Amino acid sequence: MFKKTPGTKDILPDEVSSWQVIEETTRNIFSLYNYKEIRSPIIEEAALFNRSLGESAEIVQKQMFLVKKDKDVYALRPEGTAPIVRAYLENNLDKTAGLIKVYYIGPMFRAERPQKGRLRQFHHLGCEVIGSQEPYLDVEIISLADNLLKAYTIEGYEIKINSLGCAKDKKELTEILRNGLKPKLTKLCDDCKVRFKHNVLRILDCKNERCIEVVKELDIRQDHLCPECKRHFDKVKEELDSLNIGYKINPYLVRGLDYYTRTVFEIIHHDLGAQNALGAGGRYDNLVGDLGGPSLGAIGFAFGMERLLLVRSRELGVGSKDLVYVISLGEEAKKQGLKLLNNLRKEGIAADTDYEGKSLKGALRKANDLSSRLVLIIGEDEIKKNVVTLKDMVSGEQKEVRPENLIQELKSYNLTHNS
Ligand code: AMP
Repeated sequence: MFKKTPGTKDILPDEVSSWQVIEETTRNIFSLYNYKEIRSPIIEEAALFNRSLGESAEIVQKQMFLVKKDKDVYALRPEGTAPIVRAYLENNLDKTAGLIKVYYIGPMFRAERPQKGRLRQFHHLGCEVIGSQEPYLDVEIISLADNLLKAYTIEGYEIKINSLGCAKDKKELTEILRNGLKPKLTKLCDDCKVRFKHNVLRILDCKNERCIEVVKELDIRQDHLCPECKRHFDKVKEELDSLNIGYKINPYLVRGLDYYTRTVFEIIHHDLGAQNALGAGGRYDNLVGDLGGPSLGAIGFAFGMERLLLVRSRELGVGSKDLVYVISLGEEAKKQGLKLLNNLRKEGIAADTDYEGKSLKGALRKANDLSSRLVLIIGEDEIKKNVVTLKDMVSGEQKEVRPENLIQELKSYNLTHNS
């Protein structure tokens, strides 16, 4: 028998309702903030990610699933920001729409070593705003992330923020790190020795105990920020305080991708264990320009849906409908049952029937398993009398109803069409 590929997951029917609730909550909250949904393709030209994330980014170096077709190389998207900026520019939204606020929900792919909380196909729900450098927007984004988590009933998370500064400041930070780390190079892990050459900021992200120790000794602060970036970051902190959003400043927080500038943030949850990030994001004020567009400020974040589901404090109400179960016994009854099901569904009443040739007893048990509130029975007797038997599964009461009165009768039970 075939097995799923490592690092992927089947989301079975019983689990899907939890996903749908998260998705529905997400859509509701985003619409409160006036974000519109965007859907970009799952495959993109691989070069888009090399260019945006940076050649030395771990994702580009090791984790992209590449698809070769003739001379072209595509990648299964490892993240959503670069494709959205590509779509923004390709569709001329910079000229027609100005500032855009968009969100997305969908699968991402990274060829990582699978472990708890780390998959090769996982799902992001995230957002991007393109077209502003205002610090107030950073505050909206962080407060939006905070409100989403509250709406998912997640508690006990921590928001960590930092500012990388502009491109010039990032260079300065890189220099500070290079100078500080040079004498300690032998103490770093093999990966960090390579990072020292190509992407020294990534060393701050290393989970190796010895590297963490070495980095701690560097005593990094926000000294690399130019006056303008410092003012920007001060404003972000001030307005987060004014909204009573709790956060911790972490000068060691950098994001491994080239495109980040100024504000970066990460939201962690200790119950997640080693892979403790629920989500992360930040500004990328140079990416639109780097991909051939105008110079426009932009910011976004993404949560990992699998991790959100792991730390929810309670199941949110599952959006199921009251199901009417039709039991038709015999050939003629089945014909009538088919029409009846059709009519019910046309009226917006969720309905199902038995396709396994069950006896009345077996079919009633099935209705019970499906938590059906009402059952409609059509047998020989009912056909003769031109009625349908309506059984209330909660009270156990049963009555005969004429077909022309049936919809009216069912509606009097106030069935839930959508919860
Ligand atoms: P990133 O783009 O790496 O900052 O990812 C944002 C969020 O997506 C992380 O905080 C995780 O919650 C989630 N995530 C990233 N990579 C994976 C993965 N391989 N498996 C599951 N979730 C992931």
